Amino acid sequence: MGEFSIFECGSCGYKSGRIRWGVGENDQHIRFLPGTCQNCQELIAIDLTDSDVLLDKFSCAICGRPVFFFERSESFECPRCKAPDMKIRQDGYW
Ligand SMILES: [Zn+2]
Ligand SMILES: [Zn+2]
Repeated sequence: MGEFSIFECGSCGYKSGRIRWGVGENDQHIRFLPGTCQNCQELIAIDLTDSDVLLDKFSCAICGRPVFFFERSESFECPRCKAPDMKIRQDGYW
């Protein structure tokens, strides 16, 4: 089951949109992971469906630049002010 997460920075007040995270409940084929585009300074959901995380390159849907994944274990860095102070709020499932 995938979830929607909203990331909020405790330092500068940046707030992401609803970011898809995980695997589709009905179609386990569909996978998304959160990541950041440093060019757009936005947190985005990266579509991993039919992709190999280790082999494929992923780019921002808006600007086409490479994007960077978040890992669950890291502290999350704000794409705007770089403070590792992002709070995650769950906002439903998909
Ligand atoms: Zn921030
Ligand atoms: Zn971008």
